[in-house]
Amino acid sequence: MDIPQSQSTANLFTDTSINKIYDVIVVGAGPVGLATAIGLRERGIDNILVIDQARAFRQIGQIVDLLPNGLKALKCVDPNAYEAVKTASLTFANSPQPDGEKKAQVMETNPPKPSQEWVSKNLQGKKVRSISLSFDVWLQNYGEGRVSISWYDLQSTLRKLLPEDKVKPNHRCINVVDEQEYGCVRLNCVSNVSVEANPYAYWADGQNNIDILSQNSDTTSQQSLTKALRAKLIVGADGINSTVRKALYTDSSYQAFAKPEYSGFAAIYCREIPNIPNQLRAHLEENFFAGSPILTVTNYERASEPAFSECPRMMLINRQSIGYLLHIFVPLNSLQSKSGNELLDLALQHLETAGFPDELKQLVRLSPPENLQQRPYYIHRAAVDAHRPPAWSLGRIILVGDAAHGMPPFMAQGANQGLEDAIVVTTLIHKIAQENNWNNKQAIALAFKKYEQIRRPFMEYIQEATLTQFPNSSDQQWQEYNQTVYGRNFDQLIAQLRV
Ligand SMILES: Cc1cc2nc3c(=O)[nH]c(=O)nc-3n(C[C@H](O)[C@H](O)[C@H](O)COP(=O)(O)OP(=O)(O)OC[C@H]3O[C@@H](n4cnc5c(N)ncnc54)[C@H](O)[C@@H]3O)c2cc1C
Repeated sequence: MDIPQSQSTANLFTDTSINKIYDVIVVGAGPVGLATAIGLRERGIDNILVIDQARAFRQIGQIVDLLPNGLKALKCVDPNAYEAVKTASLTFANSPQPDGEKKAQVMETNPPKPSQEWVSKNLQGKKVRSISLSFDVWLQNYGEGRVSISWYDLQSTLRKLLPEDKVKPNHRCINVVDEQEYGCVRLNCVSNVSVEANPYAYWADGQNNIDILSQNSDTTSQQSLTKALRAKLIVGADGINSTVRKALYTDSSYQAFAKPEYSGFAAIYCREIPNIPNQLRAHLEENFFAGSPILTVTNYERASEPAFSECPRMMLINRQSIGYLLHIFVPLNSLQSKSGNELLDLALQHLETAGFPDELKQLVRLSPPENLQQRPYYIHRAAVDAHRPPAWSLGRIILVGDAAHGMPPFMAQGANQGLEDAIVVTTLIHKIAQENNWNNKQAIALAFKKYEQIRRPFMEYIQEATLTQFPNSSDQQWQEYNQTVYGRNFDQLIAQLRV
């Protein structure tokens, strides 16, 4: 596959003079792009830039759990980043202050309650297993803890560890052009433009699929500006609907891999159900929540069957109010353009077929249709049937995070795996810099091949666990998965990569 050569579009952009070539440009200031940039600076590579399409960085996104593997990777990327993220997390921070800022608290003064757990129950309300929400319990079991943090707080915390002039919002990459004659890649960017509604983005707002990022746009005030930026290496960290990925695969035999694929799974959810009758509330408290703020209910009787992953899984949340998130296996067209009432019917149909108890169906029936939302989950499969899957790199360009292997969030591994990418990629680029191989195409290709050799098999394993739910089939598989994913250390790997 080839990325476009410079001749084709060179004259379209006003700023094409070769006045600055960065060592690395990271496209996307999400957690993975920012962690990569921090890791590069930490290793002495300072001639870098991170660009993001958001007009300004705003409060968007969901809560992300960072698990031992992701935290260990972040600590290897930069111990300061690890400390800052831990401090900013909901696990260790106070509730929001009046000015919207969170005041950090040390663990001793605000310890997470050790009894808090995320419980998994069968349809009869019997506990099958539980996951501790305490940092210390994870630390004890896997040598590192677990924290919950909002995507925005994670982004802000990492962003603040970089000099302000190194992270530029309002720079939407629209394509990449190989400029072999200058030994670099040109990124064409636009600013002050409306960001298209993005049906794949995690920030899509339920059934309307409104990309919250698009609210950052103010199309009336200014003209769109175009800009060309150049770098010796490009790290594509621009999320599941990656433009850099499209540039790699479009017009190649890998065209089919340019866009994310629907995974077959979707969520129907209602954050808040008002007016729950006392009797139902008491039943749910007693038989399901039993003191937990969050639990998952599914048909564990079918855990050993191959189709277990297709059983609906209902997450019940009891914080300020009771809400739920139902994961179902469903054709995409059953969800698209559906009204709240139609989504409600669809949810009930799935619960009915799977034999969910009446009380949980009753809860769903109480959801106001206008509060119902849906979210299809997309994937970039790490394992493909073809003998030669499309590589996550080409020439001077490499994909990381969701741009390489975005997936549904069922095992809470998307950001964690992206942080694992970050430690591998920063170590390999550091080696390129140390050996002054910026213009050595073979050395770059070798480094990026190593990244793929290390990361792809593990991503295949993680995606299989996500899509088939195999760790849930038995206690033994659950333990094995936990040890395989959380128990690893990266020191040995980094030492190998440095050789
Ligand atoms: C409901 C839900 C729960 C989740 N829970 C967890 C969890 O508990 N644990 C976990 O590890 N993961 C979780 N994830 C997944 C996690 O959010 C993602 O894997 C993670 O955010 C990926 O990081 P990223 O930096 O690769 O991409 P993103 O977070 O998507 O960031 C990409 C960035 O690139 C920018 N961008 C996009 N296009 C362009 C462009 N053309 N030019 C410039 N900039 C661009 C975007 O503005 C954005 O800032 C969850 C996801 C969902 C939906």
